[in-house]
Amino acid sequence: MKTLLFKAHIFLTLIFQNMALNPSSLPVVHKKLDVVPLEDIQKVLNKGLQTNFQHVEVTLVDCPDLTKKPFTLAKPGIGGSTKLVEVGGPPYLLPKVQRNKVYDLKDIAKLANADNTFIIGAGAGPHPFAGKNCEGIFNLVLENGTVNQQTRIAKVAPVNENCEQEILPNSETRMALLGNLFFSEGKPSKVLKVHAKVRTGKLDFIASIRECLEKEYPDKLVGLGGTFLLKEGQAKQHVMRDFSKTPLNNEEDLNNWLKFYNMSAPLVAVGTLVNGDGGLDLRVQHFHSFSNHGEAGHYHNDITPATVEYLGYFNIGEEIYRIDAPIETHTFGRD
Ligand code: ZN
Repeated sequence: MKTLLFKAHIFLTLIFQNMALNPSSLPVVHKKLDVVPLEDIQKVLNKGLQTNFQHVEVTLVDCPDLTKKPFTLAKPGIGGSTKLVEVGGPPYLLPKVQRNKVYDLKDIAKLANADNTFIIGAGAGPHPFAGKNCEGIFNLVLENGTVNQQTRIAKVAPVNENCEQEILPNSETRMALLGNLFFSEGKPSKVLKVHAKVRTGKLDFIASIRECLEKEYPDKLVGLGGTFLLKEGQAKQHVMRDFSKTPLNNEEDLNNWLKFYNMSAPLVAVGTLVNGDGGLDLRVQHFHSFSNHGEAGHYHNDITPATVEYLGYFNIGEEIYRIDAPIETHTFGRD
């Protein structure tokens, strides 16, 4: 009897470890984004970001090789068939976790009509792999059936609650609960280079860009994706603790459950932003960052406005895919 139970346990563990939702069960909504010229966005940001930063320089450049330091992404560029892909949402985490919400990014890529693609972005890491809840800093290439996985996950260590970062193996391509991803062919292209120093306003780097786009294009849906480097300074970032045993019913419960850190530059962030909801229940901005010094997590804002320096490269998304949007939604947990 004991052996039987043991076998059943192993069997269930294996199923759980290999678990991902059946892609045919996932609802997909697809919409074209408004592709305004990058030159126009350049002008809008050059002017608008000055309300939040002392030094601002936005230029249109050929994308530098992002596989090189300090960015070390899995592909050199963020051009070609660009898409924002939002999967799941905070209602699958809050107030209570839905552990079955595990997605294989290979399936997600197929649903987004992108079999060969470079994926970067922010989401929940694969808890069946990590053995607990974790952040995902997604950075991987799916090409002709092969995987180049450079995604990091970040966890809160037991006892001392330090941040633990690790890189996923090529065999692990899952994401859990929610994610905001930018898909491209990883090709060279013109991109927006956004360089900002010394923060004089209240907004974080991404919110400052997003608000410029909200003001300029109120009747359009404009989405950007890409990467930025926190070059100097420190950022407030969180890492999710393991799933809460009690329901998290509001922002206060949530903030008590999250573990906040002050993380130091250089940090490399990846994610997406969009200037509106588009009727798709979108998370309007979401960036996670990793580092080569062990720190990684969800970016909120820098805590060193006088010395902070940001350097970002962004491209515009041509379309958006909203996959497995929660039917019952709420607005907390989106900061
Ligand atoms: Zn996050």
